[in-house]
Amino acid sequence: MSGNLRRTLSAEQSSDRRISDRMRRLEIAVRNGEPSAIKSEAQQTVSLLTEFLSERGARHQDQITAMAGRLECLRDELDSVRKQAAIDPVTELFNRASFDEQIEREVDLAAVFGKRGCLIMIDIDDFKWFNDTHGQPCGDEVLKQFAATLSRCFMRRHDFVARYGGEEFVIVLRELELPVATDVAERGMKAIRNLEVYFAEMDQPLRMTTSMGIARLRLGETAKSWVERADRALYQAKNAGRDRIEVEPDRARRRLE
Ligand code: GH3
Ligand code: MG
Ligand code: MG
Repeated sequence: MSGNLRRTLSAEQSSDRRISDRMRRLEIAVRNGEPSAIKSEAQQTVSLLTEFLSERGARHQDQITAMAGRLECLRDELDSVRKQAAIDPVTELFNRASFDEQIEREVDLAAVFGKRGCLIMIDIDDFKWFNDTHGQPCGDEVLKQFAATLSRCFMRRHDFVARYGGEEFVIVLRELELPVATDVAERGMKAIRNLEVYFAEMDQPLRMTTSMGIARLRLGETAKSWVERADRALYQAKNAGRDRIEVEPDRARRRLE
């Protein structure tokens, strides 16, 4: 039981005792039939009850205020837990679970409104080299700055940037055609090429390139298939020599009869 509630209960018990004492005295006065004594006891009973009611009102008001404060704390805690569950702690981008939800939402929206977006899968080229040459903390720093650069490049209200896992990232561009998405992706590639990461006591900044695969949602396609096509394009970009963008065709090729 909370301290507040215990205090309220004990205050109410003591008031109850005082009121029943008073009532007993009033009963005795009535039984004795002395008008001035009855009047005096009645007045004291009424004033005690008035005092009791106003005290109880104030106590309950305090309790309600305390409960409202506690509820607000709980809501803040819940918000922060929900945020932690959605955010990747290293890069502070949305995490894989958030992406999985978002991509389903995009597919549902497209089914309702017929407006299709593009998905970009991104993978840092030769990222392992940073870890192997300069250690894991250096790799983490590269990831952080890479993520911050992506966030700066893709900041339309409907752009959704997430860490897919490891050194792979995904961007969902709502309602965009392939040529525009490709231009935006090119801008991102350039920003990454210009990124310089200084780590520890290094004289020279670290630089990097990235490979990207883009696919536009096809009507009726599942989220899984959309992700697979973007991933396939990324794989082609890697195979073709890295530091480039590959685009999956917008429509399925007609089967040769
Ligand atoms: P490629 O150009 O083919 O993509 O080569 P790569 O070296 O980038 O790819 P590879 O898959 O060989 O290596 C990815 C490395 O990323 C391996 C893994 O240890 C490292 N990695 C994954 N997550 C993290 C992380 O959170 N921090 C750090 N520092 N390294 C990570
Ligand atoms: Mg990878
Ligand atoms: Mg890589």
